[in-house]
Amino acid sequence: MAQGSYNGRLSNVPDEGDEFRFSSDMSLEEVRDLQNKFCRERQWGQFHAPRNVLLAMVGEVGELSELFQWKGEVQRGLPEFSSEEKVQVGEEMADVLIYLCDLAEQCKIDLPQAVRDKFQKNAQKYPSGRVFGRSNKYNDYTEYKEEQAPVTLNRSREREEADGSE
Ligand SMILES: [Mg+2]
Repeated sequence: MAQGSYNGRLSNVPDEGDEFRFSSDMSLEEVRDLQNKFCRERQWGQFHAPRNVLLAMVGEVGELSELFQWKGEVQRGLPEFSSEEKVQVGEEMADVLIYLCDLAEQCKIDLPQAVRDKFQKNAQKYPSGRVFGRSNKYNDYTEYKEEQAPVTLNRSREREEADGSE
């Protein structure tokens, strides 16, 4: 049985040259602006406090998850889904993204800049030479523990100095 042999990795995954692309270059700013206009035209801005928008987004993540529920692991491209189900997946993904951009606006977070910063931070946490082909969390790696060790020692020394002990 295919599910029984699943080991958490996809087979036949191209490492490079995956041809899939989005059809549009729509920016996150455009998504934010469209949602802002959509809400203003309906006087819904009064309901879009950050917590309300966050909970709406989580609800949409639930709707997206529901489409995958009880299907077991599925393959890239969702060949197991009907065309109607694939449309629904796209709609729920869109709902999640729209609410995420809305949430960023309500929180005054520059989302594109936050994404750029996060990629940079992730590249430092997961240097390709260290993690290539492995899925461990960054602090599982011996190299990371060795890099952090001097920091831990320095913190202990600072505490001793603050306590007045040697
Ligand atoms: Mg929805």
